[in-house]
Amino acid sequence: MRLYSTNNPNNIVSLRDAVLQGLASDGGLFFPTKIPVLPPDFFRLSRIRSFQEIALQAAQSLFQGALLNSDLKTIIEEAINFDAPLVRLDATTHVLELFHGETLAFKDFGARFLARLMKHYLHDSKQETLILVATSGDTGSAVAHGFFGMDGFKVCLLYPSGKVSTIQEQQLTTIGGNVIALEVQGTFDDCQRFVKQAFLDSDLRKRFQLSSANSINIARLIPQMFYYLRAYSQLHHSLLSKPLIFSVPSGNFGNLTAGLFAKRMGLPVSKFIAATNQNDIVPKFLASGQFEPKPSVQTLSNAMDVGNPSNFARMLELYGSVEKMREDIFGASFTDAETLEGMREMYCRYEYIAEPHTAIGYLGLEQYRSVVGYNNVGIVLATAHPAKFLDAITEAGLKAPAIPERLAQAFKKSKQSTLLPNDFSALKAFLMSL
Ligand SMILES: *Cc1c(COP(=O)(O)O)cnc(C)c1O
Repeated sequence: MRLYSTNNPNNIVSLRDAVLQGLASDGGLFFPTKIPVLPPDFFRLSRIRSFQEIALQAAQSLFQGALLNSDLKTIIEEAINFDAPLVRLDATTHVLELFHGETLAFKDFGARFLARLMKHYLHDSKQETLILVATSGDTGSAVAHGFFGMDGFKVCLLYPSGKVSTIQEQQLTTIGGNVIALEVQGTFDDCQRFVKQAFLDSDLRKRFQLSSANSINIARLIPQMFYYLRAYSQLHHSLLSKPLIFSVPSGNFGNLTAGLFAKRMGLPVSKFIAATNQNDIVPKFLASGQFEPKPSVQTLSNAMDVGNPSNFARMLELYGSVEKMREDIFGASFTDAETLEGMREMYCRYEYIAEPHTAIGYLGLEQYRSVVGYNNVGIVLATAHPAKFLDAITEAGLKAPAIPERLAQAFKKSKQSTLLPNDFSALKAFLMSL
């Protein structure tokens, strides 16, 4: 597998370099030079295969020998260690629950796969690898758990003091082991700036192999294709002849882009719904043809509060024009009031408790169906467990779901973090002392 930069098709690198660099040196995003099409019997046989078997065959096809099959198998068996069940709401409507991993959000898939691929590439490195992550919430804990307990790796999570929810802070600061939580007396932007600065610092670079594990890394996108394939394999056979719609609650559009890749690999998808909150840059682009990033606004679905979606460059690379993109993607955006209404509707109709992100996916599907009708199959990606968003569930007037054991455990432990002033030299001194 080879990849090029979306800023320069002549800047071609190996999978190893793409994974270890994250972002191309010219600021572009890595994009595969070739997206292979899976053989027709892949889809037929996927119905009797396990999730791991489906993931392995898709990965082999995509990687084109970049890794030994035995290595790839180990990585997949360790990374895809929880299922993505397709839950039927009615005859043609489903949710694909992606929240059964360690941190109860779909980001666990990408983080676990990335961690194991990095370990594969760096296992004989002389230096210790330091993963630096600035986080405003969910990404940090997924990445940290992805690398948890891995020899040769340390993870430092930088989060803005007082600016993440209690539940998120509890998840970030109780992991322990090789994960260090740093509470920065500044904003998320300050945390992000420090991470960038650390990468340029020659002392830190001498001391550690530095890596970022951020969301634009291609290794986080790849495993997200697998669960689209897995969803298809679980559909009732009587539904396979109907047009298939995936509705994807989106912020940085990694999840949606992975679906678009799965379609290029042959998955028969008729439409993707790009469902957003009021940070509606992509739905606006689909309507007007103008891509106009702007500062993000805060919403109930805070993991999608993104004003400049980073994977847009990959979406554009796949389609080339807004007209082409419209053939495959329908955009829809919703306010917080509509989101709460969508949560209530899912409960009233199906007794299904969804958190705000998932509810936006549901609303997007319903909006599209109000245009094209119901002779199709809808799958809403359920991106997080409702227990992570208890405040919104209470606000919607719904009863709180049971708290999964994993989350309850995090609540029992006491917070362990190091408070740092809003000053890079303090961070540097701390890191050098590790
Ligand atoms: C990160 C996240 C999203 C948005 O996913 P993107 O790939 O950034 O579009 C949606 N829902 C939840 C719960 C998330 O954590």
